[in-house]
Amino acid sequence: MRLDYLTIFPDYLAPLELSLPGRAVASGLLDLQVHDLRRWTHDRHRTVDDTPYGGGAGMVMRPEPWGEAFDDLGIEGATVVVPTPSGRPLTQALARELAARERLVFCCGRYEGIDQRVVEHAASRTEVLEVSLGDYVLNGGEAAALVVTEAVVRLLPGFMGNAASLVEESHEAGLLEYPGYTKPATWRGLEVPPVLLSGDHGRIAAWRHEQALTRTAERRPDLLHASAAPGEWAIEPAT
Ligand code: SAM
Repeated sequence: MRLDYLTIFPDYLAPLELSLPGRAVASGLLDLQVHDLRRWTHDRHRTVDDTPYGGGAGMVMRPEPWGEAFDDLGIEGATVVVPTPSGRPLTQALARELAARERLVFCCGRYEGIDQRVVEHAASRTEVLEVSLGDYVLNGGEAAALVVTEAVVRLLPGFMGNAASLVEESHEAGLLEYPGYTKPATWRGLEVPPVLLSGDHGRIAAWRHEQALTRTAERRPDLLHASAAPGEWAIEPAT
């Protein structure tokens, strides 16, 4: 999989070289490239923003550097991911969808965001997905791009040492994961639930399932009634 990041703060994305994505690059699973958007500016101050048409507070990112970056990098066939609080909420299902793509191009906005024509233009050339991390406002799209990357990369076939560890995770089966325990069996007076020491795999599986259901009902009852309609969010390329 190839991942491109367009940002005015390339250093912000340095953690990509660590941890999971870094390992995936080292193993050849990922081709990861961070691009400074200012490379596609032409004035002395390397300007990427301007005042909003119609007035109002803050600055908006100008479209030209994005357009030139798209031309140089070539976005056809890629999925352009635009982090924005107005986007499709990031879920495990969306991470799975993105993990099936061959190439993602992240557009990290700053200021009050990116001129909307950038999304429209990109959508005339390829698939575009506006993605939200949640109902709050970050300062920039870099943190969101990092989060999406981490959620996606660990789903790539061959990436996780033990693929089975993905199967029972929270949000995979529409439930939160059951609680986990390791050694020692007694710690500061607290015991591991005896069923986990029983060696009876049937009982353990049943206990875990019940724990997952109880936990989900208590903490996230909305998940038990979730009905996603992700198709509404995709912006298909114009034909
Ligand atoms: N004025 C914008 C609005 O109200 O929707 C917020 C702009 S925010 C200060 C700057 C950038 O941070 C956005 O362009 C986006 O890239 C990123 N961002 C902020 N909150 C986000 C969220 N919840 N999910 C994904 N990206 C977010």
